[in-house]
Amino acid sequence: MYNDAAYDFVAVGVGPFNLGLACLSSTLPDVRCVFLDKGAGFNWHPGMLIDGVTLQSPFLADLVTMADPTSPFSYLNYRKQQGSLFNFFVRENYYLERQEYNRYCQWAASRLDNIRFNHDVQQVDYIPEQRVYRISGIETQHNKPFSFLAKKLVIGVGMKPRVPDCLRSVANGINLHSSHYLKNKARLQQQKKITVIGGGQSGAEIFYDLLKDSEKFGYQLDWVTRAPRFFQMETAKLTLEILCGDYGSYFHALDKPTKQKIIEEQKSVYCGANQTLIDSIYDFLDTSRHRNLPRVQLLPCMNLINVEQDGNFHNGAASDSQGFFLQFVHNQTGEHYQTHTDGLVLSSGHLYEVPAFMEGVFDRIERDEQGKYLQKENWSVDIHGREIFIQNAGFESHGLINQDLGMSCYRNSRILREIVGRDIYPIEHRFAFQSFSPAKDSGWEPLGSGVRR
Ligand SMILES: Cc1cc2nc3c(=O)[nH]c(=O)nc-3n(C[C@H](O)[C@H](O)[C@H](O)COP(=O)(O)OP(=O)(O)OC[C@H]3O[C@@H](n4cnc5c(N)ncnc54)[C@H](O)[C@@H]3O)c2cc1C
Repeated sequence: MYNDAAYDFVAVGVGPFNLGLACLSSTLPDVRCVFLDKGAGFNWHPGMLIDGVTLQSPFLADLVTMADPTSPFSYLNYRKQQGSLFNFFVRENYYLERQEYNRYCQWAASRLDNIRFNHDVQQVDYIPEQRVYRISGIETQHNKPFSFLAKKLVIGVGMKPRVPDCLRSVANGINLHSSHYLKNKARLQQQKKITVIGGGQSGAEIFYDLLKDSEKFGYQLDWVTRAPRFFQMETAKLTLEILCGDYGSYFHALDKPTKQKIIEEQKSVYCGANQTLIDSIYDFLDTSRHRNLPRVQLLPCMNLINVEQDGNFHNGAASDSQGFFLQFVHNQTGEHYQTHTDGLVLSSGHLYEVPAFMEGVFDRIERDEQGKYLQKENWSVDIHGREIFIQNAGFESHGLINQDLGMSCYRNSRILREIVGRDIYPIEHRFAFQSFSPAKDSGWEPLGSGVRR
């Protein structure tokens, strides 16, 4: 028998995905749920809240609108409540600054009474007699243990910074990651030379942020990518159709090797930087050509293969600055290179790791030979396919829709349907104009793979 005191679901982690779920479930009186986050409050990738940088998704990709445009948690309602909707209308800029998106999410979180911040989840287990999960951990403000019982779980703990293997020998290599950029910025700007590794959106944002100040502080700047050139993310409208539910379902049904091949081929969509930013960088470099800027170098094709810290010595003298020797191989010529830098920023992306607190329910979860979740099409990972749902872990199972803020409402509508057993936020079924494989009634008759007539 179910323990009736148990919540219908407990959600772990309150990033944008579970915050959206909290907003969408807040209007359902018959659904009892609680949302736990170890942070002191909502704060969206604080190390990357660089002045002026924007979301890559239009404001309609807020917490609720794509599921329920009438929701009181919409971005438009936030502006209305702030008394600034008219300014937004006149401004006509639909790509919110990240700092603004963060303020909006904080506003939404402050209007919900079932979010518990300072709740660090450390253990999840299953109580078979009651058919419930127990979620336990430490309430960090008062250092007290807590525990909740739930019939279902939605885990949304986000991704972890990816630190390349060649940095393993560097003490606290994780601190060099872009996710710590703003905390390190003032110290970086005291260096003689800074190297930014990574040509994606975060790398471009950091490079541009440092570039604009390079004359003032006098540091040299190298921007390095292993890609064959610095390129823009593909955003053609028909390409963006692969960021939709139809495509997610099509992709999910493919076999693993095909999925891996496609993910590699789609790099031009999820890697690279946005065009406006690339243009700004180019224009800045051109405008500064006649000024006496410290040396700026942009180096594609450079694959970082080794990093060594050079200790507390700088130019032969003891110094507070710890520099780095970096070794690269040029991807096209095969030539090896070494350079020294005083400041280093690694914009090397993020990856999903199954959290250690899930170990207690591994026997109820389907995972592959590497221990990664085997996620079903409805984002569940438990053996019954209806109890444990995971946000933002499905890059390899569902493709690019996984981490896209624009698809958050779609996934949350479907997860809510699975949990509650009814359609609350109707799901649009034909998203794309293109058919990723011909539909039954399309006049295209399947002949089976490898059949020739
Ligand atoms: C800098 C940056 C910018 C991005 N911009 C965009 C964009 O413009 N458009 C787009 O579509 N995508 C964007 N993304 C991708 C993606 O949308 C974001 O990464 C998004 O934050 C993912 O949300 P999330 O809810 O999965 O996780 P997160 O935002 O990472 O939140 C996870 C939460 O889980 C909590 N948590 C972790 N472990 C525990 C635990 N044990 N107990 C309790 N709580 C825990 C953390 O405290 C955190 O609050 C961006 C990513 C980055 C890094």
